[in-house]
Amino acid sequence: MSTMNNVGRPTTPQATTPNAVAEKPATLTGGRGLLQDEPLIFEGEGWGKTGVDLPAPKTDGSDLGDLVRRDPIGLPGLSEPEAMRHYVRLSQKNHAIDLAIYPLGSCTMKHNPRLNEKMARLAGFSDIHPLQPQSTVQGALELMDSLSHWLTTLTGMPAVALSPKAGAHGELCGLMAIRAAHEAKGEHEQRRKVLVPTSAHGTNPATAAFVGYTVVEVAQTEDGRVDVADLASKLGPDVAAIMVTNPNTCGLFERDIMEISRLTHEAGAYFYCDGANFNAIVGRVRPGDLGVDAMHINLHKTFSTPHGGGGPGAGPVVLSEALAPFAPAPWVVNTGDGFKLVEREEDEAAQAFGRLCAFQGQMGMYVRALSYMMSHGADGLRQVAEDAVLNANYIKARLSDLMSAAFPDGPCMHEALFDDEWLKGTDITTLDFAKAMIDEGFHPMTMYFPLVVHGAMLIEPTETESKAELDRFIEAMRLLAQAAKAGDVDRFKGAPFHAPMRRLDETRAARQPRLRWIKPEGSNQAA
Ligand SMILES: *Cc1c(COP(=O)(O)O)cnc(C)c1O
Repeated sequence: MSTMNNVGRPTTPQATTPNAVAEKPATLTGGRGLLQDEPLIFEGEGWGKTGVDLPAPKTDGSDLGDLVRRDPIGLPGLSEPEAMRHYVRLSQKNHAIDLAIYPLGSCTMKHNPRLNEKMARLAGFSDIHPLQPQSTVQGALELMDSLSHWLTTLTGMPAVALSPKAGAHGELCGLMAIRAAHEAKGEHEQRRKVLVPTSAHGTNPATAAFVGYTVVEVAQTEDGRVDVADLASKLGPDVAAIMVTNPNTCGLFERDIMEISRLTHEAGAYFYCDGANFNAIVGRVRPGDLGVDAMHINLHKTFSTPHGGGGPGAGPVVLSEALAPFAPAPWVVNTGDGFKLVEREEDEAAQAFGRLCAFQGQMGMYVRALSYMMSHGADGLRQVAEDAVLNANYIKARLSDLMSAAFPDGPCMHEALFDDEWLKGTDITTLDFAKAMIDEGFHPMTMYFPLVVHGAMLIEPTETESKAELDRFIEAMRLLAQAAKAGDVDRFKGAPFHAPMRRLDETRAARQPRLRWIKPEGSNQAA
């Protein structure tokens, strides 16, 4: 038996604390309520079989010389219904935004309108090739130009680099532009530090380190914001940039943001803003007005393109006047009688720091994001921010009597942050609580992040949940919180009891990952 990591198959009885549910007999086959157990595709019986009938090749392959394959290709073969069922069964073991609220804080998991999907599948966007002559893809280039216009208008920034493929990739883009700007001024050698607040998303320090900077932590105040005095004491001629998330990862607006950017510029450094939380302020606040020099926008968060499971995302970076010349190629220009990609240094990209990816970036995400923007309009986008903030405050208000809000004073922005103070004395941890949520049919919130809050539970409902859906979620949270306080420990300790996968030994899986399927000894499955 092999699985992706060293834990049992879904139905393997576990040595965790049993409760009434766990003691129910395992099924005979490993199936569970109309969902059959599903082996890995390599563990099936389909070796040497094929679901398609291909004509014999016309050549003997002699033109390929030594490259001709002599052994079977080594892929499992499935008929169409078998392939279909394999993937549908796997998909049913997963959670999806189309099933229920996905309250992950810091991630903005919102509904993806079907209109976006329809637009992205238009042949003029989906069936084109990045190497096609530009004269044949004018519509696609115009779409990129329109998207750039919306992004620069919404952020109040003069330029945008569309090609980064995720938020983290956008951070890389921003810091590379910052490094290029310091190099152009001859200050790169002296500016080796990047300041990052303690509450930052892990990608911020990771990106700074990846670009070769030394990461210096900035402290946080009691009320969950950047400690401006600490920041000021660390700024100086050796600092290249600060990376600040706003609204921050505690779900709070940095109210000293103007002072933060003023101090940063005074020290000759640049202000990189992590824009992952743009959903909370879109249409209400323009980061350009706050003195931001570079900011990525996760299209897959704020502008509703699908994400989760690793992609595909898109992380365009808006840039200030100072950084715009260093933006990576390519970009689109409107020449007056058509659209053109600026791709090479000898075009107008002399100072570009290079490219971040082959071709132009995630075209399908661009289409979805623009579709979302245009269907909302400017007023609708403003309402996105307002409703997202209202929904988070509703959750905070309805749960604060049972659970402890990390920053109880005043409203939050788009996410409600609780700590584990309220679980003290129950022997139940944030992790136990989250696993019990799965049994009740709810995907857990973000746990243990940000690190500055003990046992953090970060809940982001987004604007796309109705009051009825929020009430369902709140009711489940309240019932669980009451059970925790009443000492119903077994409900939590071994959870989840009802999910396809029982609780994983996450430490062991991380320490001894098995990332590849290895053919079992003595297997007769053809190579
Ligand atoms: C999601 C997120 C990122 C990283 O974005 P990806 O698109 O996942 O690479 C960075 N910072 C914050 C605050 C985030 O929430």
